[in-house]
Amino acid sequence: LMKLTKKLLEIQSTLKILNKNSLDSQNSVSMQLPMIVVVGSQSSGKSSVLEAIVGKEFLPKGSNMVTKRPIELTLIYEPTAEIPYGEFPALGLNNIQNFTEIQKTLVDLNQSVSESDCISEDPIELKIYSKNIPDLRLVDLPGYIQITNKNQPLALKQKIKNLCSKYLVNPNIILAVSAADVDLANSEALLAARHSDPLGLRTIGVVTKIDTITPKKAINMLDQNDYPLHLGYVGVICKPITVKQITDSKKPTISVITEADYYARNIEFRRSNVEVGVGLLRQKLVRILESSMAQSLTTLVDAVQADLAETKYEIKVQYNDERITSESYLADTFDGLKQKFKLFKQDFGKNQVREHIQKYLEHHVVNICDELYWNDQKIINSNDLDRNVDQGGWMPPFIANFYSTLKTVSSTINSILIEIKVANSGSMELPQTMKSRKCIKASTKSKKTFESNINNKYDDHGLILKKHQMELEKNEQEIYLDHKLTQATSLLVKSGIGRNTTKLVVDLIMCKINELVDSSYFYYHPESRQELLKMASEVLRSKYVSTIDQVENTIKPLKYEIEPELFEWQLAKVASLKMLDDEIDKCKSDIKDAKTSISQKQLTESIKLINKAAERGISTDRVISEAIKSVGSPVNLSSSQTPALPKRNLNVLKESELNQKLEQNETDQPSKPNSKNTKVNPIEQDSKVESKLDLSTVTTFDPSAIVNLNALITAHNIISLQNRYKTLRFRKQIISSAKCSDPQNKKACAETFLVMLSHKLAYSAVLFINYELLQNFFFEVPRNIDAKMYSMYRNRTGKASRKFADQNPKVRSHLALLERRDVLEEVMVKLSEIIREQNLANSYAEKW
Ligand code: GDP
Repeated sequence: LMKLTKKLLEIQSTLKILNKNSLDSQNSVSMQLPMIVVVGSQSSGKSSVLEAIVGKEFLPKGSNMVTKRPIELTLIYEPTAEIPYGEFPALGLNNIQNFTEIQKTLVDLNQSVSESDCISEDPIELKIYSKNIPDLRLVDLPGYIQITNKNQPLALKQKIKNLCSKYLVNPNIILAVSAADVDLANSEALLAARHSDPLGLRTIGVVTKIDTITPKKAINMLDQNDYPLHLGYVGVICKPITVKQITDSKKPTISVITEADYYARNIEFRRSNVEVGVGLLRQKLVRILESSMAQSLTTLVDAVQADLAETKYEIKVQYNDERITSESYLADTFDGLKQKFKLFKQDFGKNQVREHIQKYLEHHVVNICDELYWNDQKIINSNDLDRNVDQGGWMPPFIANFYSTLKTVSSTINSILIEIKVANSGSMELPQTMKSRKCIKASTKSKKTFESNINNKYDDHGLILKKHQMELEKNEQEIYLDHKLTQATSLLVKSGIGRNTTKLVVDLIMCKINELVDSSYFYYHPESRQELLKMASEVLRSKYVSTIDQVENTIKPLKYEIEPELFEWQLAKVASLKMLDDEIDKCKSDIKDAKTSISQKQLTESIKLINKAAERGISTDRVISEAIKSVGSPVNLSSSQTPALPKRNLNVLKESELNQKLEQNETDQPSKPNSKNTKVNPIEQDSKVESKLDLSTVTTFDPSAIVNLNALITAHNIISLQNRYKTLRFRKQIISSAKCSDPQNKKACAETFLVMLSHKLAYSAVLFINYELLQNFFFEVPRNIDAKMYSMYRNRTGKASRKFADQNPKVRSHLALLERRDVLEEVMVKLSEIIREQNLANSYAEKW
């Protein structure tokens, strides 16, 4: 039976480690095995008893309260341990042969409890190995105190009681220590023991300091029946005993005798039935603990079995019985990443990159057109937008002018001819073609026009002059368009395409890598994630500058004159129409959004106000900025085509106030013409001329009308958007017209030309980006993942991969569960072995 405690103590420490990692340590299986709990008043001699059992001095001592935390002491009989040694498993301190050092460590650990707390429930784990000790598990607890001193909190007394009662529970064995010089009736230890073990089945009474009372008194005390205990009382002396001896010379000498000598000398002890001596106490404890352990065995087996079943269930339910190790997780994580990387490579080839670059460049083209064409008053005005659009076909403005003048001139010539004819013949007969009333009316009108033309503008050479002027206009227009296209081309080609496209691709890759890493297990491993991103960006950086240079080099020829091929022109035409369509759609939806943001009434009122102001030569921008000034929210309107709405969008001001403001400012400073990119409001176009208008003659606004600043800005936006919409529609008509089917007309079809150029640029850029940057990236990164990262983890100790795996909470709990199952299974094997041995021993005992 002797080996049972040892085996169970081993099992207990295994289970203890296991439960350290689990949250539910209160109900842990390690609590199922009994231990010997030492309780008693302060200075009753508890520590001395424990030290006497171990045979070593190692516990903190002193007059003040020194034991502030429970000391869970495991004694292990180790036949090979010539020199006893101790260890603090929680601190990682092993093989401490110097017991003074153990004592010092215990003092330090006790002192770590704060003054205000006084005691702590966190136990200190200490193991002692020796060939002179039995296998025992004991707990030293803070001693009960009678009165708290002035430095100790009042609640301390209760705190100590509470802590002790936690340890006094079944199946623990209570070692109730009382000093012989104190009446047992006053023993705090017995009182507490009786509370937890009313029948006295698990309590051993220990009376210390037997040497301080007479043997007779001691025997009476140990033999009493007032406080019967099933396991009885043991008297001990834990201090060297000094005795006076009268020698022959009649001179008393002082000598030190052992505990055993003391009992031997006092014959009363031998004659009585009382149990005395540390040795006896020790044997008794071993015996009691063994049998208690044996009794607890079945409970322990049940507990372990239940725990194992639950753990297995958890593994099944939560992880579908999946097998996993930290190494397999590590491999999976890297494999997964490489797999994702492979897919990324497939999805991010030359074509995809070209698409991205094309999109980027098209966006650039939109901006250029916006700046140079869709926003150019000269182009918009000269084309007499509305009329041409209504006619359904487009012709360059100079031709349109020429065409209309030609019509006037031809009808005028007709009239002259008729008049000459009439004058010559003297008859009123009209030619056949002129018979209808319509014709007569037309000819009369033509005559009048001719006359007025003659009078106002033309001399005899008027026709020639006009023709000449038209030629000039045509030339000027051609030159202007040429200039515009050169400007647009250079804006596109010299915009740093090499740098921008390379950066675009690098950004896209890094963005994708980020996404890729975050959607993999690396999400749980911030350091490795960082390392990975750093590595990827370094690979890209190594080729960054050279890629930029290469791209710039390849697009160089495109910076100069390029002659479009018909097929590429046709493709570009379709793309540019799509581009315009997209812009038109955007414009439409912006208008729709703006319209829904304010009420129809507000809109109408605001437009009315804008129109009124325009009549007075005041631009909308000024109206708005004055309105904003009066409500105190500065917004820069002239610089943005869709002005940001002020934060306080419900600011309301009386129109009369605004009116006043405007008039005041008008007299201070003449209204400045709008900045160049005020495209839009046709009313505003006249404002430059009329800005000097005398304001006093203008009718003031209705003072009761209220202007909503938000509505005003929105109305302004809507007008701007509507104008933009018209311009875009007009441009679309130009591009769709037959004229733009011919690449030779590129200057009139700037959108198509620029789109075509952007396609060419994208095509060239991608060649080198692919060759220089992408191929290198997709080759280097997977190699680096393997060579620099994965192998680094693999080559380190198992701890590294475990640390890695533990970073993923799900994997950590999975691994912990698997580990728990393995340990519990191992424990179950050991327990079954113990039971088998026990049964064998029992049947053997029965036989004999
Ligand atoms: P604890 O506070 O309960 O741990 O008590 P200690 O073990 O520190 O002992 C308190 C005091 O009693 C110390 O001064 C010990 O030397 C003394 N003491 C302990 N056991 C005996 C004993 O058997 N006989 C005598 N005379 N003194 C003892």
